Parts: sequence; C-alpha cells; structure tokens
Amino acid sequence: MENRKTLIELKNVRKSFDGKTNVIEDVSLKIMEGEFVTLLGPSGCGKTTILRMIGGFDKPTEGEILLDGSDITLLPPNERPINTVFQKYALFPHLNVYDNVAFGLKMRKVSKEETDKLVKDALELVDLEGFEKRSIATLSGGQQQRIAIARAIVNRPKVLLLDESLSALDYKMRKEMQLELKQMHKTLGITFIFVTHDQEEALTMSDKIVVIADGEIQQVGTPEDIYNEPANVFVADFIGESNIFNGVMSGKLKASFAGTTFDCVDDLEKDIKIDAVIRPEDIDIVKEGGQLKGEVLSCDFKGTFYIMFVQCGQYEMEVHCFDYYEPGSEICLNIDPDMIHIIPYDTSINHYPGTINGINDAGLVRVKFADMDRRVARDRIHVGERTGDDESVLDVINKPDTKVIVNFEPSAATLTDDAKAGDICGNIISFHYIGDHYSYTVRSESEEDYVVDDADLWNQGDYVGVVIPEDSLNITVL
Ligand code: ATP
Repeated sequence: MENRKTLIELKNVRKSFDGKTNVIEDVSLKIMEGEFVTLLGPSGCGKTTILRMIGGFDKPTEGEILLDGSDITLLPPNERPINTVFQKYALFPHLNVYDNVAFGLKMRKVSKEETDKLVKDALELVDLEGFEKRSIATLSGGQQQRIAIARAIVNRPKVLLLDESLSALDYKMRKEMQLELKQMHKTLGITFIFVTHDQEEALTMSDKIVVIADGEIQQVGTPEDIYNEPANVFVADFIGESNIFNGVMSGKLKASFAGTTFDCVDDLEKDIKIDAVIRPEDIDIVKEGGQLKGEVLSCDFKGTFYIMFVQCGQYEMEVHCFDYYEPGSEICLNIDPDMIHIIPYDTSINHYPGTINGINDAGLVRVKFADMDRRVARDRIHVGERTGDDESVLDVINKPDTKVIVNFEPSAATLTDDAKAGDICGNIISFHYIGDHYSYTVRSESEEDYVVDDADLWNQGDYVGVVIPEDSLNITVL
C-alpha cells in the first residue's frame, strides 16, 4: 500500500458553517490510489462534512483539496471523477433499474451500445445481472443499495464515496454487503472512501482507518495499528473494548497502575504520567499468584466467549474468557508485558493560557484564563523553581498582564448538577471510564474544554457546573 501514489490530499482543511466555530479543524490527510479508506467517528464528528468536501458538495472554509496533485477545492461535483453513494440511495422510483444505472451516461450522451455494455458490467459487478427491467419499488433494501452502487460506478470514477451506505440494511444483510463491497473494491481497483460510525465495520473493511473526533483527526492507520496501538485514550475507548487506567512510569520498563506495578515493553521516562490500555481479551486468568486478585462481579455469555467484570480493589476490570466464573468467586489475573499499551498522558489537558494582574488588599492574585477571572493565593504562582513570597516572584506578580499558563488536575475538580454553582458551566461532550472513575470533558459556551474526574455516572449532553477550587490552580509564569 505504501508504494501507491497519493490520489487525494487534504491540506489544512477547515470548515465552518455560517461563520460559526469550525466543525472541521485543520484536517490534513493523504488517500492513496486504490485504497479502501474509512472515516470513522461518533455522530456529529464531521465525517460527512469531510466526505462532502471531497465530493465537491461543500467547500472548505480554509485549506485545499488536491486530486492527482491538481487543486480541485472549488471544482463542482460533476467535474470531479468522483461519485457518491448516499445513505438514502436517491434512486429514481419512476425509472427501472436500467434507466437508473444509465442515467448519468445518458446525460453525458454516451452511445446506446456503450451504455448497454457499461450498465451490463455494472449490474454484473453488483450481482444483479438480468434486473434491467425491474422497477425500483420491487427491490429489497439490499438490492436498491446495489443499484445505487452500480449507478455510481457505471462511468468508472477514480473515487467512490460511500456515506453510511450500509446503515439502512438489517444486521445480516449489512454483514453480507460489507464483504461484497470489499470484493467490488478489489475487482474495480478504484479508491473507496467510506464513512461509518460503526467501528466493527471499519475494522472489517478498510485498508486505512481515519479516526475522527470533534472535527479533528485522532489517528490514521491500518485496522491493526488502530486496534493494537491506539494513539490516545479516545481511540482506545472508541475502537473495541478497553480497560484504561491512569498511572505513572515507576522505573525502566515498569508502569504502575491499578494499584500494582507491571513490567511493560514501552520504554518511557521514569515518573511521567501515563494512561495504560489493556484489551479485555489480553488478560489471563491464572490458578494462583497473579498480579491482580479480584472478585467476579458478573460473567455473561456472548456467543463465543464470556464477558466478565472483576473488582480488583477499587478498580474494575473487564475480562473476556472462554470459561464461566461464578459471580462472587475470587480469581487471579495476569497481564503480559506486551499486552500493556502505554500512552503518555496528554499534558495539554486543563492547561490554559492566561494573565495575572497584581495583588489585591487581601493579598490575593488576580488571574484570568479561559472563561475565568479568579483570585488565588500567592503560593499558587510559580516562577521557575520559585513560588509565592519570594521577592522576585512578587516582582513578577506585580507587573500588569504577566503571561501565565494555568492548569489543574482533573481529580481536583468536581461536577455539580446545579450548573450555576460551578465556576464554569457547560455540556458533557464525552467521557471515558478509567478503572475506578469516569473522565468527563465539559465544553463551555465559549468552547473551552475542561476535563474532570468523577466517580458518578453522568450522561453525555448533561448541562453541569464545574467546581475548580482556587487551591487546585497551578499558575506558571512564562
Ligand atoms: P453523523 O454520523 O451523525 O452523520 P458526522 O460525523 O457525519 O455525523 P457531520 O454531518 O459532518 O457529522 O456534522 C458535523 C457537524 O457539522 C455537526 O455538528 C453538524 O451539526 C454540523 N453541520 C453539518 N452540516 C451543517 C450545515 N449545513 N449547517 C450547519 N451545521 C452543519
């Protein structure tokens, strides 16, 4: 795949609707000739918007889209060698199958002979030869889907865009069509760009997966890369099942998390904060010893394996196994070093540029950052190694508009349903379970994000207040 040439390139593409905030944020991406690429992400993350810009149905607000090295950013859809199969197939109900598939060719005044041949080839490819005279209304959902694909490939585009094209099909039909689409991709040899929010579908079908969240690319890689080496906690949580724990590197090839120190294969600096990711199928149940001991909370059969939840001290583990374990029983768990995937903790979390502006009569320093204007004790201000009352620190504090970075630990903040009681308020836009607590991201009206650890389960979309105590703010003078 690596030797293929770049067919489509997105360069620093941004998109906003009506001048509002960007729904696509600085996306750069290369798609190779003949690749099966899937744009994967939760609802509203911007997958369809990216696809529509590639198809020419929307224009980027900033950035460029290249095809074969030429700028096609402003080219209308019908002048691009790109066709789209939409979620709703948009077939013409009053035309028969032949006329639906031949529609674009007729518009281009392709000869009758040539059209006959191309329609026949396209119908053969989607396994519906002989259906030419059937009316659209007599076709099943799966057959209509195939006709929509036949119509999109009949003029042999360089690229086929598929927008959630299988989502209207029932589970079994969907599975069948996944395999058929893969086969069609092989036969046609053209580039497929597929949009889905279904991670299993993406893993099954793609050469390359582009994971998107909140208008930004999180990771680009093969299905194996994305599954085995997730780049961040979002990807680890979104793709497959994961146990995620906050931890720290406690020595060379040693990581401490879930109350235990484990050998690992990632050689990261001692003392740096990490997130450790362990897939439930990678945890071994052993007869005795074991790095972790725990009580089985539940064990449910899932067809080919059991899903078990185990309470190990304060931490909960999801374990997939082939034997049944009675809830309430004690078991021992081991995790092989190479089954532990270490992700350096995202140091940009809860870090905000701000300013400090002198000391008031009560001896408190005024700090402005993100949505906040707070008064904090002098000992929260750090200038290099120095803190608080040091003469030179006071000098810096007294200067107007001194630039600082403010940060606080997610564990120091709390959520409240009395939004007005918070230091800021906003909606929970995402959350992950991290071993013994949830990690919530709250977005304020001014689009600042605040990450908060909380043991309770809140819902995505909840409108909450975030309480951030003054003594949890660390203010570093730049
Ligand atoms: P889904 O899986 O639900 O289709 P998606 O990942 O494809 O979601 P998009 O449809 O690309 O997401 O939408 C991304 C964001 O852009 C959403 O917040 C959506 O509301 C917004 N958006 C999309 N089209 C428009 C538009 N024409 N005008 C205003 N906002 C829009």
